[in-house]
Amino acid sequence: MTAELRHDWTLPELRNLHATPLLELVFRAASIHRQFHNPREMQVSKLISIKTGACPEDCAYCAQSSRYSTGVDAERLMEKSKVVEIAARAKAAGVSRVCLGAAWRSVKDNDQFDRVLDMVRDVTDMGLEVCCTLGMLNEAQAKKLEAAGLYAYNHNVDSSAEFYETIITTRTYADRLNTLANVRKTSMTMCSGGIIGLGETVDDRLKMLQTLAQIQPHPESVPINILSKVDGTPLAENADVPVWDVIRMIAVTRLVMPRSDVRLTAGRVKLDPTAQALCFLAGANSIFSSETEFMLTKAVPSPSYTADQALLDAVGMVMRPPFVNPNSPRAAELAEQVGLGSLPELPVCELKRAACAVA
Ligand code: SAM
Ligand code: SF4
Repeated sequence: MTAELRHDWTLPELRNLHATPLLELVFRAASIHRQFHNPREMQVSKLISIKTGACPEDCAYCAQSSRYSTGVDAERLMEKSKVVEIAARAKAAGVSRVCLGAAWRSVKDNDQFDRVLDMVRDVTDMGLEVCCTLGMLNEAQAKKLEAAGLYAYNHNVDSSAEFYETIITTRTYADRLNTLANVRKTSMTMCSGGIIGLGETVDDRLKMLQTLAQIQPHPESVPINILSKVDGTPLAENADVPVWDVIRMIAVTRLVMPRSDVRLTAGRVKLDPTAQALCFLAGANSIFSSETEFMLTKAVPSPSYTADQALLDAVGMVMRPPFVNPNSPRAAELAEQVGLGSLPELPVCELKRAACAVA
């Protein structure tokens, strides 16, 4: 079965896909996955909260919203030296992408944004892919991030348009799509996905994928978060997402957007290693890891670098070096430049060395 890059998925088609018997669905997703990606490679990313808490928005899931008492203390914008230090430790652990997250509604054209642009330049110079998730962006701000060399911009649509307005009232779905349109006017790659476990229906999940797949080209990276329930937020008592729903969502995302990186993001820590391995088989080829036990804030736990290295070793996967996504035009050029064989055969140390040598 050859994959095609489609932008016109219908809801009945997606329902059909989603209803495929699970292991058959995983098998189909795994077959498509290897047509576009090196099945032994996993991109490992690190999220750095460069500005934490006191966000004016009311996202019902978020530990950083000032509307809810979640115990997350507000912190000012992090010093660049501290960001570079964390990024260096992440790189040493095999991380190839660093994501700078700010609890802002939107970017403001002020010295804080200038400081973030500086962070982007310095961390990119370390040979790492840099992603920013700073809230809403206008076109000029997107261009400034592009000029600073930003590799990716994250802005999640989170769910279907209908369901979105039940979890966030301080901005609209159209606002989200507008920021994504501004990102698409640059050469930066786009990272956009959403969350399952918010109380949405399967149709909401599928409508989210339908919306994302209508973006041309597809978002290069699609995070699938599992709701991390945070005490003090309106969704703190939501039911857990059954593991089969997670695997199914990863597999359908892989089939709908075969070239994109599918990121198994928040909530992965709750999945046992076997469930994670099934998600990897179904096409999840990117994870977040951390030197601390949490992702962005202490309210959202994360697996550690050591635990993830052990998991990848156990399932026979290697960490993907930066900028060598097999689909990026740079992949062939880089492979040639360093005389890399076909990536799957190389041990992690060689991949890292080779990538650093050319970064
Ligand atoms: N303030 C930026 C924004 O809203 O776009 C960045 C927010 S956060 C770093 C990026 C994404 O993480 C959010 O858009 C949401 O999809 C996801 N997220 C945040 N809190 C979460 C939680 N408790 N559980 C699961 N996903 C979460
Ligand atoms: Fe603010 Fe982003 Fe959290 Fe929403 S998800 S409350 S915009 S930090």
